[in-house]
Amino acid sequence: MGVVETRRARGHRLSAPGDGPPDSEGGALVEFEWSQEDSSFRTQLRAFLDEELPGRWTGAVATLGSRENVAYSRRFAGLMAEHGWLTPHWPTEHGGHAASAWQHTVLGEELWSIGEPRGPQYMNVNWIGPSIMAHGTPDQQRLHLPLIARGDVIWCQGFSEPDAGTDLTSLRTRAELDGDEYVVNGSKIWTSYADVANYCYLLVRTDSGGTRGQGISVLLVPTDTPGFAIRPIGSMVGEHSFNELVFTDMRVPVSCRLGPQDEGWAVVREALAYERVGAPRWARAARLLEEVVEWAIANDRFDDPVSLEIVGRARATCEAARLLYYRVIDERDRAQGSSANPSLARVAMVQAERIVAEACLELMGAGSLEYASLADHQLRKSLAAGVAAGTYEVQLNLISRLHLRLPKG
Ligand SMILES: Cc1cc2nc3c(=O)[nH]c(=O)nc-3n(C[C@H](O)[C@H](O)[C@H](O)COP(=O)(O)OP(=O)(O)OC[C@H]3O[C@@H](n4cnc5c(N)ncnc54)[C@H](O)[C@@H]3O)c2cc1C
Repeated sequence: MGVVETRRARGHRLSAPGDGPPDSEGGALVEFEWSQEDSSFRTQLRAFLDEELPGRWTGAVATLGSRENVAYSRRFAGLMAEHGWLTPHWPTEHGGHAASAWQHTVLGEELWSIGEPRGPQYMNVNWIGPSIMAHGTPDQQRLHLPLIARGDVIWCQGFSEPDAGTDLTSLRTRAELDGDEYVVNGSKIWTSYADVANYCYLLVRTDSGGTRGQGISVLLVPTDTPGFAIRPIGSMVGEHSFNELVFTDMRVPVSCRLGPQDEGWAVVREALAYERVGAPRWARAARLLEEVVEWAIANDRFDDPVSLEIVGRARATCEAARLLYYRVIDERDRAQGSSANPSLARVAMVQAERIVAEACLELMGAGSLEYASLADHQLRKSLAAGVAAGTYEVQLNLISRLHLRLPKG
């Protein structure tokens, strides 16, 4: 998208407090037209997906964490890497092509809209790899980045604990230094993909003094390390989506620590900022909505005013989420500092997921009760969307502070 070059010449106006840079009437200008380069990339990518995916992928109703889909995503990520499309936004020295944030956005939209066939690897390429680039030692970069860039590896994120979810800085998994190793004891919960992962991006407490944000460190741990136990947790989200991790005297070399000891919170906050808008969820919700509309038309269920109204509202909500998401990408493209826009975009994406679920229930009626129907799938996705990667309520808190400038409650 040619935002930078053309934003003043042909822009629409989006205005928000603190948005910059303003035009003469106080709003920021954003050009919504895609550049020719981005459009032709999208066309090429769609042709590849049409060729590669049919019959081998369950698409928009892909079940989070299902073994079948994770197995497929390993193969798919390898194919993407061969085309140079797995890490195009990475710098060339780490196997990327320094592609723009907009090209990365095209990639995210196209893949999320069909159910994210990269599976867990979207985390590697979006924020785990970049976090290792920013804070890793040369040895860590040499080991991990080529594996991620080739699509040869799956990572999981060991953040949440039974008493540390939203309030992540109260995490208690301890890592005590013993010579040139840490001895790790504690547990993690809700860890997606741990059962199929090769590595875990693990948050541990290395010091209990100071504020709670201090004394946290990041360890890059192979999941086959002795003392690393993985137990599945059943849930309504997907077939086998969650795991509990239990660490018992797990020894991890100091060389596996990412960034300085006790200062891991800064490393993680940077990674989380990326994670919060990393997934263009609106793209999948919008596509699924159109699939349900097609189904309703074919089944003569698209004629009452209630259905029409909710579909209209759902389409508008998806579109609002798309525009707010683009505003974040624009900020990123121009390397602008932090703002409330990622929280606004995430709230809008959750609202899009939820209203599309409502529309599915309305249109499909009793058919929604069928396991793995479009409506059943969307309902479960929409419930998870407001919790994963920072809850909906916490994003609202951030908006009230950073955007509306309200005092902290
Ligand atoms: C699909 C999915 C995948 C996940 N994958 C992973 C993963 O791979 N790795 C990992 O570490 N974790 C993962 N999680 C866990 C997720 O990060 C946590 O569930 C989330 O951070 C919330 O923490 P919690 O469950 O402890 O809820 P709590 O933090 O206990 O929150 C409970 C409720 O209280 C509200 N609340 C809490 N604090 C405030 C506040 N200050 N103001 C207003 N409301 C508040 C919350 O919004 C929520 O509604 C995943 C979760 C989901 C749903």
